[in-house]
Amino acid sequence: MASVTSKLPQTGTTIFTVMSALAVELGAINLSQGFPDYNCDPQLIELVNKAMLDGHNQYAPMPGLMALREQIAYKTEKLYGAQYDPATEITITAGGTQGIFTAITAVIQPNDEVIIFEPAYDCYAPAIKLAGGVVKSLELEPPDYRINWEMVKRLINNRTRMIILNSPHNPTATILHKEDIDQLSILVKNQDILILSDEVYEHLIYDGEVHHSMARYPELQQRSFIVASFGKLFHSTGWKIGYCLAPAFLMNEFRKLHQYVVFSVNSPMQYAIAEYLKNEQVYIGLPEFFQQKRDHFRKGLEQTRFELLPSYGSYFQSVRYGHLTDEKDADLAIRITKEFGVATIPTSAFYTKGTDHHVLRFCFAKKQETLDEAVSRLMKF
Ligand code: GLN
Repeated sequence: MASVTSKLPQTGTTIFTVMSALAVELGAINLSQGFPDYNCDPQLIELVNKAMLDGHNQYAPMPGLMALREQIAYKTEKLYGAQYDPATEITITAGGTQGIFTAITAVIQPNDEVIIFEPAYDCYAPAIKLAGGVVKSLELEPPDYRINWEMVKRLINNRTRMIILNSPHNPTATILHKEDIDQLSILVKNQDILILSDEVYEHLIYDGEVHHSMARYPELQQRSFIVASFGKLFHSTGWKIGYCLAPAFLMNEFRKLHQYVVFSVNSPMQYAIAEYLKNEQVYIGLPEFFQQKRDHFRKGLEQTRFELLPSYGSYFQSVRYGHLTDEKDADLAIRITKEFGVATIPTSAFYTKGTDHHVLRFCFAKKQETLDEAVSRLMKF
């Protein structure tokens, strides 16, 4: 008999897959997994079509199409003042998750410690464990989910190899502030610690707040992998295309893996995006576009009995319900999907220990009528 010893014995199926499948099965409005329910710009689709018709259907260069890497370098310098060499410091990835996995596995050695802040996006810990690393998590608490840097300092020792940051943050919709950057800079100064910065929601930031990319701060930038996503930028999460920025010594290691994990990412989309990105409006207009959705959804939710948590960035709006019921968030998410026809994500799924603060996450990257219908269903709860 063939058998296998699981490398990830504690890992089940990601909550996004579970809740989206339940939403489909029950015909519920799906505010669980984060993706838009409206189409991306037809002009972008035309550009992909054109690239295919023009014959760009063979392998792209391993690190990605140079014209696209150049556009990314331009955008990054313009927005964050950082210079990345497209030849050696930018790689196109098959989405944010692949960038994160590749960065972690490229540099984490057995017994290296990696600090993550929970609730944490669920792909970090499995990647760390597969690399033989040790997850050191610091739990954050609602409503603010602020990082206590004194506690981070206590977690750091000579085995600490990496700190993973995520701003705007999934699932809590919080953001890093300048004070956080200052504290982080003090902590890592003169330490051999890398940063992995998951910035896939960089353009989804509201109320005029600034996105504190690691690229803005040379001290941090020189030790950081920054992961970004075109799916969030162009409302095309199914295209699974993004990129990673890192100084050459890190990118060199990243590419050693990247070339054997995916080799290269599909070329027609790279041709199309390289062209489309020339129009800066496509990302400059995003905060306003999504802030409108956030505000509209929040206004609707105010008519329900949920307590709204702040949403400073990302696709997400979380609510607390502890004053209404003692049910576990995982149970309630399923019950709301079944009984009220709205799928949501339980925040406990993002804590290693399953910590349950009675918080549910909703995605508001949806058409106004979808949000309105969801609210009218949630009002019955
Ligand atoms: N990032 C998306 C979310 O948080 C999910 C992406 C995925 O399912 N891999 O909902």
